[in-house]
Amino acid sequence: MNVSVPKEVAEGERRVALVPEVVERLIQNGIQVTIEDGAGEGAHHPNAAYEQAGASIGDGFSGDVIAKVAPPSAEEIARLAEGSVLVGFLQPLTASDTVRALAERGVTSFAMEAIPRITRAQSMDALSSQATVSGYRAALLAAQELPRFFPMLTTAAGTIRPAKVLVLGAGVAGLQAIATSRRLGAVVHAFDVRSAVKEQIESLGARFLELDMGLEDAEAAGGYARQLTDEEQQRQRELLAEEIGKMDAVISTAAVPGRRAPLLVTEQAVKNMSPGSVIVDLAAETGGNCELTEAGQTVVKEDVTILGPLNLPATMPDHASSLYARNVQSLLDLMVADGELTLDFEDEVIAGACITRDGQIVHEGARSAAGVTA
Ligand code: NAD
Repeated sequence: MNVSVPKEVAEGERRVALVPEVVERLIQNGIQVTIEDGAGEGAHHPNAAYEQAGASIGDGFSGDVIAKVAPPSAEEIARLAEGSVLVGFLQPLTASDTVRALAERGVTSFAMEAIPRITRAQSMDALSSQATVSGYRAALLAAQELPRFFPMLTTAAGTIRPAKVLVLGAGVAGLQAIATSRRLGAVVHAFDVRSAVKEQIESLGARFLELDMGLEDAEAAGGYARQLTDEEQQRQRELLAEEIGKMDAVISTAAVPGRRAPLLVTEQAVKNMSPGSVIVDLAAETGGNCELTEAGQTVVKEDVTILGPLNLPATMPDHASSLYARNVQSLLDLMVADGELTLDFEDEVIAGACITRDGQIVHEGARSAAGVTA
């Protein structure tokens, strides 16, 4: 079996699907690896490092399996051979044109986002590995933009009180944002609609914000949050507006799979914050948790700096790629037997992650997003 890795072409994408360390392990397992010229440069892995690991430098689309990070562009899809296997982030619930094009091209595609989040597949969970990077970077951005210290300082010139940080949404990214803000010395509060995370928040040294929402636990299938009703959302926004006014920084990460991000931080809440405060909205990509967020921009409104960063994992490409490459390797391990590509569609991970096959869109969520009826 031959795996090839193209150089990523999406704007700002600096990650690479395989790093030399992982290439070496694949080669030990009898898999051949081809890396496109310069594919690892953005993540600080030169061609020579791959060659040393045993890979050859050549056509990134020549493999039986093509491993990518970002969803393929139309030009990239045109370079995929019929019958080849593509592994990468594909945004199957939102990028329907890409999914249709992959099916038409006869590509067997696997989306990293669609890997079932079951215990056996944890080592393949690229949503989690990349969310960890996002949460860490978000806390650093908040600390960097805030014109105040995060930690408490006792100096000859007086005492500085620690910053108050509120993290909204305590999934993988939120928990990492809490941990990082704590390490920097901030007093951290956090809120999530899933009451199960209260203990996790507290174990990181943060306080769970008790909002009197009269809410039944909002945990839905697969451990994800359910969409709140309009009344619940309204009540949440009102209660939050008051609490947000007491914070120096808000890091928001709230998301509901396949939907627009919930709106949690209103214009009024921003007005309630003291001048110089900061909001880092990690949900910018899916519409934003803050009413005033502009995706991909840093804006100042009401003297509050609001950041809407996109693709934060690409801003820390070395470790983001290392973690991602290990996720890919674990998936590839499932796809190979005796050095040959062997796809077992009886396996729930292989079946669950598969988006297109034999010219069809086979993933249920991707089918309904693309308007394909049974
Ligand atoms: P996500 O990115 O979908 O959402 C981020 C957070 O936003 C979630 O915690 C969600 O509850 C929260 N949220 C949604 N609406 C909200 C609102 N209105 N107000 C406040 N918060 C809101 O989540 P994720 O980080 O991908 O993780 C979701 C779940 O999946 C977690 O329970 C996590 O532990 C679980 N998970 C399981 C595995 C595994 O078993 N392999 C791996 C990773 C994550």
